[in-house]
Order: sequence, then structure tokens, then C-alpha cells
Amino acid sequence: MRKRSKIALILVALVVAVVVGRPVLFLAFVWLNDGAEPNPMPSVGVGDASRMITNVPDEVIAVAEDPAAAERQISDLIQRAASEGRRISIAGARHSMGGHTFYPGGITLDMEAFRHMSLDEDKRILTVGAGARWYDIIPYLDARGYAISIMQSNNDFSVGGSISVNCHGWQNDKPPIASSVESFRIVTPSGDTLRCSRQDNGELFSLALGGYGLFGVILEVDLRITDNEYYEAEAHLIEPSGYADTYHKLTENQSDVGMAYGRLSVAPKSFFEEASITLLRRKETDLPNKETLLDKEPSVLKRLVFRGGVNSGYGKNFRWWVEKEIGETGGKLLSRNQLMNGPSSLYSSRDPDTTDILHEYFIPSDQLANFIEKSRPVFLKHQPELLNVTIRNIHPDHDTFLSYAPEEVFGLVLLFSQERDEEAEAAMLMLTRELIDVAHACRGRYYLPYRPHATLEQFHQAYPQASAFFTKKRHFDPQGIFENKFYQTYGQPLETK
Ligand SMILES: Cc1cc2nc3c(=O)[nH]c(=O)nc-3n(C[C@H](O)[C@H](O)[C@H](O)COP(=O)(O)OP(=O)(O)OC[C@H]3O[C@@H](n4cnc5c(N)ncnc54)[C@H](O)[C@@H]3O)c2cc1C
Repeated sequence: MRKRSKIALILVALVVAVVVGRPVLFLAFVWLNDGAEPNPMPSVGVGDASRMITNVPDEVIAVAEDPAAAERQISDLIQRAASEGRRISIAGARHSMGGHTFYPGGITLDMEAFRHMSLDEDKRILTVGAGARWYDIIPYLDARGYAISIMQSNNDFSVGGSISVNCHGWQNDKPPIASSVESFRIVTPSGDTLRCSRQDNGELFSLALGGYGLFGVILEVDLRITDNEYYEAEAHLIEPSGYADTYHKLTENQSDVGMAYGRLSVAPKSFFEEASITLLRRKETDLPNKETLLDKEPSVLKRLVFRGGVNSGYGKNFRWWVEKEIGETGGKLLSRNQLMNGPSSLYSSRDPDTTDILHEYFIPSDQLANFIEKSRPVFLKHQPELLNVTIRNIHPDHDTFLSYAPEEVFGLVLLFSQERDEEAEAAMLMLTRELIDVAHACRGRYYLPYRPHATLEQFHQAYPQASAFFTKKRHFDPQGIFENKFYQTYGQPLETK
């Protein structure tokens, strides 16, 4: 009897060792091979988050910290650029990936120091310098019980860069960030400072929001804020073909849903054939009203599970299994600020020879299933190193001229790992163009802050308002003071290309 128990024990131990041992060994291997530090960002004016382009700027100018001094400095800089026939481009946190923050031989204005802020609690308006990053703002609001209304899912970005691409995130039931901008002040290409809102200088308001730095330097921004809230995550495993319907059923008229996002499986066992939706439901909590959860350390294990997917089918299957069976948050209470305060470096490549590249496609609700079905064979053909797909819901944007969401859309954010060489770049270009065609066939668009791989024709198909947008740019900036690589690639009149 004792011998039998021992044998049973050994068998159980063996099974446990096989089941648990492989993932443990695998994660240990990922940990051993992981770099110690995030890859450094290239210098201002020289490169951006893609780490795929090197620019030679003529000058890089740091904006003054003092608001009045900065305003004078920018106005003088514009006069000088006009008289010398120079180009100015504007850099926030430089997480755009297509040279949006520089121009060859141009002047790059670094907005980093312009980060003052103040709060009008009665009006619930945050006034903030355009160079401030979300990681400056979130603790400031958190300490006062408030949170950003609409932003990306990471905290690294500047306010100026975020409103100039018109970002969006996991916020449920909302258009992109422009809808939360009450007003801003901007130094225009003539060197004058104007306040823009829906009521005053409305045309410039709609052009500069989502305007990629082509209409002047945005100074302070008045942002509508919201309450910090506490959430509990609730995950649903669903069929991708029913994603849009299920999402609507789960979120519509559900006043307790504060945020929501989805994922599509990139695991080889269920590639684009399984999806999940995570709802963040508001929870009453015993925590004192202004209790912070911001000091919680990010999980190293989460990084290892995520990065374990790079070049590993096993790693991708394992991660999807973990997310399905254990969930991403382990049932913990989360604050809104905590959810939005993660740095993108938590999951990013630490291998100097590879980079993480993003795409995003905006697909109308009724076409989402079609896009997922039609894009799947494109991925199977190209076999890119696709690490993650999140899905966000975005309500129509009526504020920006170059809108990517004229109707309700789902944004599919694709994160790839890419080698930093010409061959990998050429392969990514081919893949991107095919995916843009699939998106177009589904009445969809692609997001503009990423690599400039779309053809000019694809750009104009996706953004039929682009010609009018650039005509207005030349009207507001006849000397072409504010230019960058994005404008250089897509902004010239069609016939001159
Ligand atoms: C890892 C990662 C995750 C991301 N996640 C999301 C996401 O969840 N949702 C989303 O919508 N996007 C996302 N993005 C895209 C991101 O929102 C954009 O790249 C955004 O521009 C980043 O802000 P930034 O401060 O880095 O802008 P920058 O790259 O510095 O600038 C972007 C544009 O804004 C202009 N600009 C900057 N400051 C000013 C100013 N003061 N006045 C006028 N123009 C200005 C620049 O000239 C440039 O054209 C992500 C990008 C990365 C790399």
C-alpha cells in the first residue's frame, strides 16, 4: 500500500513536472534571453519609435519651459524660418513611426519642456502644455480623484502628439480624443497665437486636431477630464465572426461598463479563429476616494509571457491559453488611472536588431467579420511575426477634418516584431499594402502615424478628404513653414507626383 502511494505520488509529480515544467523552463529561457533595458529612442530630429529611419536635421531646438518665453521663441523661430526658407517640424514623444516629427535638413522643435498644467475642478478642465506626457498628467489627476477621458492604452505620449494624430484607446462608448478637447492655443505659420475651439477659429480647430503638426505649434490644451474609477475585468471568449454584435450586446445600455477592449488570437492553434472581449465594470470600493493604485509595480511575468511569443508558436499558444484560462488581471480591482499608466516599454523589444511595428485598421461595424475573414489568408501567406491584435470600438468623430472614423468603427491594432533590415522592411511594405487593400474593400481606413508604406493612391482612397486637407494646409501655410516626412510623402498635389 505504501509502495503504491509512492508510485502514485511519483506519477503525479511527473505529470505536474511535464505540465508545469515546460512553461516554467520556457519562461526561464525567455527571461535569460531578454535584454536588461528597453532599446533607447533615437535622438530628437534624427529618428522615431520605428527605429527604421535616420534623418539629418539642420537644427534641433528645445522649446523654452516658461510659457511666455516659449511663445516668443516660437514666433521668432517662425519669422527666421520664413526669411531663410527653412522648414520646421514638431516633436512630442516621437512615437509616430514615419518621420512625422522631422524633415530632412529642417529644424525640429522639441516640445518636451512645455509641460505645465493646472486644473479647473468646477469646469472639470485640465489646461496642459502640449509637451506634457500622460505619465506626468496621470499622477497629477490621480491625486485629485480625476482621470483622462480619452487617450491611448499607454502613458508615454505627449498631449500635442496625441491630439495631432487624434488618438483613441480602451475608453468605451467614445469618439477619439478630439471630442474631449475644449480648446487649445496655437502659434500659426504667420507667427500669431490664436485660441481655437468649436466656436472660435473652428476651421483651424478641426484641421490642427489630427493635423500632424502641419498647421502650427499647439501650446496649451484644455482637456475635459473625468472621474477616476475602479473596475473589475470580466472576460468573454467569443467567435471573431460575431465580434461586433457581441460587443454591442455586452456594452450597449450597460452603464457600469467603463472601458472595454478585445483581442484576436494570434496563436497558431486558433489564429484569427478565437477572440475575447474584456469589459471593465465599475465597482464600488472601500478604498478612500482618492486612493492611488498607481504605485503597483508592473508584472515581469506578464512581459515574459508576452515576449515569449516572439518567433515561437509555442509561446503564442501559451500566452493565449494563459489569457483565456487565467485572464489578464487575475480578478484584481484596477483603477482607471492604473490601467492607462503603463509604459509601452513594458512589452517592447529589448533586442537591438529588432523593432516593434504597429499597424491599425479602422473597420465599420458591419464589415468587421469580413475584414477578419479576408485578412487571415494575407497573414498566412506572408507569415509576419504578429505578436498581438487588440480591438477597440470608436464612435464617429465629427471634430477633425482628416477623420478616420466618419462612422462607428472598430480599430484593430496590430503589433509586429520586425528585423531592422531592408529585406524585413520590404516584406512589411508588401504586407501593409495588401492589408490596406483588404481594409479598403471593407470600407475601412488605416491609421496614419505608422510606417509610410501605403501608396499615394491607397492614402487618397482611405482619406478622400486628403486633397482638400492639403489645399487648406497650403492656404494656412503658404510658405510651407511646417513640414515633415508625412507631408513630404503624401502632401503634395496628386498631379505633381
Ligand atoms: C507602442 C505604441 C502604442 C501606441 N498605442 C496607441 C493607441 O493605443 N492609440 C492610438 O490612437 N495611438 C497609439 N499609438 C500611436 C500614437 O498615439 C501616436 O504615435 C502619437 O503621435 C504619439 O504621441 P507622441 O507624443 O509620440 O507624438 P509625436 O510622434 O511626437 O508626434 C506626432 C505628430 O504630432 C505632431 N505634434 C507633436 N506635438 C505637437 C504640437 N505641440 N503642436 C503641433 N503638432 C504637434 C508632430 O509633428 C507629429 O506630426 C501608439 C504608438 C506606439 C509606438
